[in-house]
Amino acid sequence: MAQKTLITGYPRIGGNRELKKALESYWAGEIPLDELKKTAFALRKTHWLFQKEAGIDFISVNDFSYYDAMLDTCVMLGAIPQRFRSIKDADERYFAMARGNAASLAMSMTKWFNTNYHYIVPELDDGLVFKADSSKILSEYKEARELGIEGKINIIGPLTFLGLSKTAGDPYDYFDEALGAYIQVLRDIAAHAQGALIQFDEPIFVRDPSPKQLDLLKKAYAALTAVSGKLRILVTTYFEHSNEATAVLGGLPVWGIGLDFVHGARNIEGLRAVAGKRLIAGLVDGRNIWVNDAEKSLALLEDIGRFVPAEDIVISTSCSLLHAPYSLEKEGGSPLVQWLAFAQEKVRELVFIAKAFAGPKTPEISEWLRANKALIAARKSSPLITDPDTAKRTASFGAGVSREGTFAERNAVQKKAFALPELPTTTIGSFPQTSQLRALRRDVKAKRITEEAYEAGIKRVIDECIAFQEEVGLDVLVHGEPERNDMVEYFGEMLKGFHFTNNAWVQSYGSRCVKPPIIYGDVSRPYPMTVKWIAYAQSKTAKIMKGMLTGPVTILNWSFVRDDIPRSAVARQIAVSLYDEVVDLQAVGIRIVQVDEAAFKEGYPLRKENVAAYENWAVDAFRLAVSGAKKDTQIHTHMCYSDFSDSIHTIEKMDADVITIETARSGNRLLAVFQERGYANEIGPGVYDIHSPRIPDKKEFIEQIKSRLEVLAKDKIWVNPDCGLKTRKWEEVKPALKNMVEAARTFRR
Ligand code: GLN
Ligand code: ZN
Repeated sequence: MAQKTLITGYPRIGGNRELKKALESYWAGEIPLDELKKTAFALRKTHWLFQKEAGIDFISVNDFSYYDAMLDTCVMLGAIPQRFRSIKDADERYFAMARGNAASLAMSMTKWFNTNYHYIVPELDDGLVFKADSSKILSEYKEARELGIEGKINIIGPLTFLGLSKTAGDPYDYFDEALGAYIQVLRDIAAHAQGALIQFDEPIFVRDPSPKQLDLLKKAYAALTAVSGKLRILVTTYFEHSNEATAVLGGLPVWGIGLDFVHGARNIEGLRAVAGKRLIAGLVDGRNIWVNDAEKSLALLEDIGRFVPAEDIVISTSCSLLHAPYSLEKEGGSPLVQWLAFAQEKVRELVFIAKAFAGPKTPEISEWLRANKALIAARKSSPLITDPDTAKRTASFGAGVSREGTFAERNAVQKKAFALPELPTTTIGSFPQTSQLRALRRDVKAKRITEEAYEAGIKRVIDECIAFQEEVGLDVLVHGEPERNDMVEYFGEMLKGFHFTNNAWVQSYGSRCVKPPIIYGDVSRPYPMTVKWIAYAQSKTAKIMKGMLTGPVTILNWSFVRDDIPRSAVARQIAVSLYDEVVDLQAVGIRIVQVDEAAFKEGYPLRKENVAAYENWAVDAFRLAVSGAKKDTQIHTHMCYSDFSDSIHTIEKMDADVITIETARSGNRLLAVFQERGYANEIGPGVYDIHSPRIPDKKEFIEQIKSRLEVLAKDKIWVNPDCGLKTRKWEEVKPALKNMVEAARTFRR
């Protein structure tokens, strides 16, 4: 018997980001909607046929989206926020919800669990009447059928949909109405696609579920299976174990349960409940890029086989391949490319693992297994990945390193030495990235201009940036980061152990894609990374120039990370590299260094049981990175959010002298936690919302600062924007910062 295979979901953006390009051309009015739709269909077709030809049994339909699957689910359920209900044209309304229009703000976006993919947050408001719309599902199902594919229909399940929604009260208050719409969708499908397999994604259950959620899970799938008729229902989770949900689903007549055994090893503990159902075993990592270790996967399958008979096991990806790049085709000659598997390669791996598990072993399979084993062994022992010096150096730091002096001691020294005014003003680092600036960086990369010409160009931008900051009277200056394309890539390109791909794009949201670096080996810093620019900038002003680094945890969380050593060990290696940079900056006279940890929170585990361990090593890595700072070197950190209710104790332990955060929109609501906690160090609560082109006037800044003073002591507050100004225009930034500085001054008098 051939072992069956299933792909949880497939990337939709296209091998050459065709969907991104088509969407953006359509939005710019350059192509008509029809052409966008044609491109979208061509992509679906290519992706389906690729999976079919590879031999996949269960191929997804409705994993395609023009923007996001949660947004599609809103449409499927008729959950249209009030402000968009009057738009009659469905396509126009869809993109208005995603991106806003002249009259209305877009729906908000947030990260999908612990990935860097952002989904559209459903809004359940008054007057909402759920109403099923199965048209997208049915039309994509039909398209696939015409290509000879009986698609597995992907739908985000009711518990996850509601659980991630925004509403005034408890989103599960909408349970009955939402369920009614889901039932209608099943009926619509049953009418057109008898016997279809429906995959309900319920990843919400990988976060410690409440008794109420489990109770509703039972209600929902009891009701859905009761009306499903010949349809087969599969409930899938990913990114962690979901044993509580597995236990509940075990008692219901669902056809199958899909579990992630890569990021949820503990799923094996709950398998008894799966007896009598299909187990969709997620073995090929959908969110990392390393070749699967077939021997390990087969051993895991043997383990699983103790609970579920082999004929009921379907071999699968750990989650949707949406989180993996498309294909290795364009990656060229680097020796590491053979260690990698992107979406297309993962599909093929899956088929091989299934064949190898089902046996008997043909020569083709034996050869594949042998080659895989050799490759895995070669990677482990490759001189490319291990660097004895790095190991020695990292070990020499020991555990729990910290810098000189307590906060109180450091603060006293710094206050005296810096003599900054009350409510000192600063910015978060980057200034507007103009098209000229991007062209400059592109030109030097393509060798169209010399290094010297490039350097002169960057220095001119730094000069202008400093001149402006002095003119408006900011207190602590920045160089503006003109030499940086991206806050992680910039450092990764100079550190050893990082690989940059040509085409490993992954969808981040809508049409936006990111190309995370791959950390394949031991990380070290061969030479200083920022000292030249920061020292130059400091030489141009008598004011204090802030050094600007990206922190170890953020570099880690925004990369594909090697899987042969713990993430904590990689974080330490990055931290040592940053340690050297901090020491070098200090040596050339830089007195404030900001170490950004924009992505600190993203790395949080989904299960509470793992949180303490993460916090420990993440805080340790940050502290190690700044541990070379002397008492009179002030360390700032920056985080791109303001909800610290669950992590304030961690922020305290990081012990930065100053933390800048994002509060212009949320105001004091989230800031109060610092007050309640009696947080001792200094804080720069953002007073300028940099995500909007709006230019706040002086009065508005005064209000913002006044309200911060209600919860924080005057001698602890800094005045700054929410985040870097990279995406803004100079025309916006100039007047806004001028108003900000003037507002701060009115409080000093
Ligand atoms: N220093 C960075 C900048 O200003 C910080 C960006 C971020 O936090 N995302 O661009
Ligand atoms: Zn930020």
